[in-house]
Amino acid sequence: MTVHASPFVASNPIAMPSRLDAFCAANTFDQPTLVIDVDRVEAKYRALAAGLGRASIHYAVKANPADEIIARLVALGSHFDAASKAEIALCLSHGADPAHVSFGNTIKRSSDIAWAHAQGITLFSADADEEIEKIAQNAPGAQVYIRLIVEVSQADWPLSRKFGCDRDTAIHLLGYAKLLGLDPVGFSFHVGSQTRQAAMWAPSLDALADIWDAAKDAGYDLTLLNIGGGFPAFYGEAIEAPTAYATDVMAQVTARFGDVATIMAEPGRGLVAEAGVIVAEVMLVSRKSDRDMHRWVYLDIGRFSGLAETEGEAIRYQFETTKDADAMGPCILAGPSCDSVDVLYEKRPMMMPMSLKSGDRVLIRNTGAYTSTYSSVCFNGFPPLAVVAI
Ligand SMILES: *Cc1c(COP(=O)(O)O)cnc(C)c1O
Repeated sequence: MTVHASPFVASNPIAMPSRLDAFCAANTFDQPTLVIDVDRVEAKYRALAAGLGRASIHYAVKANPADEIIARLVALGSHFDAASKAEIALCLSHGADPAHVSFGNTIKRSSDIAWAHAQGITLFSADADEEIEKIAQNAPGAQVYIRLIVEVSQADWPLSRKFGCDRDTAIHLLGYAKLLGLDPVGFSFHVGSQTRQAAMWAPSLDALADIWDAAKDAGYDLTLLNIGGGFPAFYGEAIEAPTAYATDVMAQVTARFGDVATIMAEPGRGLVAEAGVIVAEVMLVSRKSDRDMHRWVYLDIGRFSGLAETEGEAIRYQFETTKDADAMGPCILAGPSCDSVDVLYEKRPMMMPMSLKSGDRVLIRNTGAYTSTYSSVCFNGFPPLAVVAI
């Protein structure tokens, strides 16, 4: 398999500075700020769409709900995967067609289902009896797809057993939905977020194909296959280019499912992560004792102000300073809050310039996904991550 570095990362120092770099260099920021280049979102959308072919893209809004991103995606004809009333309202406020917005959270408030139904939302997800009952009561006649559990994920950020149900439950739910007057159209799954290689989809697609065939044998005429998200972003380790990756996934889908009427994909991270850079600042560099092996570098952004995906050191962001040509050394990287879990990288220390000092600017690359939405309102008085779209 050929593996390419992402084409969206400027690794060639001779290349023109990107719009993001130019904007960051020209401005000062008095708090950690995520700068998003909406043109990069568009480029990523087009690259993924080219590989996904006849599958429709339902952008997973939770990855980054910035107005400028939603507006641009509506203009490009994207569909949306929304998880709540507020996410649906956001998409509709930017002119999305309600028929193109799915209510994809398997855990929905009854009153929100009724509200969504009244807005014209027609497609809902479920993985349990009670959820089917809530949908039948509050969105009579709606289309539903059943979310399947993914047992084996090779993703960097797996979604675990929280969502989905097993084969027997899934087939039971198709019948239950029908009994209650709903239109059970198919299945969904999520291979796990940041699934770096397309080949890693195979075991999940195999399992799904088994269940799909069993449902057909049981007499269900399935028309919708929702392959979820999982499309990767570049965090320093090589990934396949988006079009090649999506093409490979679709070839695997076609080999197993043939010509299903409707295929949905729900990229979140893969669409927006590489479009963003966080401008942050060093607050303090210190050692705990003369014999301390590692420096501690405290930033003005941490686990609670946007970098939640450093949990378990699962996602390793790339940090860049103006001193990267100086001698480098390991450090423990931590956030500014008074909570001991607010440590970003300790098990695998980060290499940072030895000359780093408080006040130095730090750019955190490819942070357009799952940062602004994960930042707390005001923990310890630190403001939520600011967002600027250019
Ligand atoms: C979060 C989520 C996605 C997006 O996942 P990525 O790995 O960011 O692409 C897609 N579908 C569902 C149902 C989700 O919850």
